[in-house]
Amino acid sequence: MYEAPGVVSVLITGRRLHRLGAQPGQFFRWRFLTDGLRWSSNPYSLSAPPRPDLLRITVKANGEHSEALARLEPGTRVWAEGPYGALTAARRSQEKVLMIAGGAGITPMRALFETLPGGPGDLTLLYRASKTEDLALWAELRAIASARGARLLYAVNGPDGVRPEITPRRLRELLPDIDDHDVFLCGPDGLARQSYEALREAGVPTRRIHHESFEM
Ligand SMILES: Cc1cc2nc3c(=O)[nH]c(=O)nc-3n(C[C@H](O)[C@H](O)[C@H](O)COP(=O)(O)OP(=O)(O)OC[C@H]3O[C@@H](n4cnc5c(N)ncnc54)[C@H](O)[C@@H]3O)c2cc1C
Repeated sequence: MYEAPGVVSVLITGRRLHRLGAQPGQFFRWRFLTDGLRWSSNPYSLSAPPRPDLLRITVKANGEHSEALARLEPGTRVWAEGPYGALTAARRSQEKVLMIAGGAGITPMRALFETLPGGPGDLTLLYRASKTEDLALWAELRAIASARGARLLYAVNGPDGVRPEITPRRLRELLPDIDDHDVFLCGPDGLARQSYEALREAGVPTRRIHHESFEM
């Protein structure tokens, strides 16, 4: 299913999938039993809360394996190894949560945005991408934000192509009580490093910054 340029979702159907015990925020290693893919198992996060009959991943073309997933035939069998990962609701210690996602890093955040406990005004999701058309799953995120009274913000490059920086000042403007938040962070290493430093300078303790890296 097309989501954005170079980004597709793959729906994995099955029975009693809840027995896998997967949590929103987690990933599996996926081995698709079809030519060209059966000898590799690559990690992709769940991009929606797991259901007993359905799991979803959303994949940005990044190389051979991730590109090939756009050409999967319906009915292709798959082995899922996992679940893995600690970027789950269990890490949350505060009422308020900020999620920072960049590019494909939106996938675990999309699953958590729908399910993380919290009342109106407790959750904020900041989604960074190069261009607005690259904001995959945007319509779903907007629907969740409106249903939950959560804040959804995006940051794309300027007309000059310059990326908006994540700075302590901008974070405090966005959330004056940023230091009372847990922060869930997933995206390219550059964004993750910049966000981490800005969050620390804005007073968020290390123990409340929960990061998942998609890099090897
Ligand atoms: C925990 C985790 C969760 C991920 N979740 C998602 C997701 O939800 N959606 C998504 O689009 N991508 C996700 N990725 C990244 C995805 O696994 C890689 O983009 C993909 O495996 C690259 O393989 P390739 O053959 O397409 O590219 P290659 O040509 O093999 O590699 C392209 C780049 O991807 C990196 N890479 C290659 N293999 C892996 C691997 N096994 N693990 C991590 N990086 C790799 C390489 O370092 C290289 O920079 C996740 C990665 C990790 C570690």
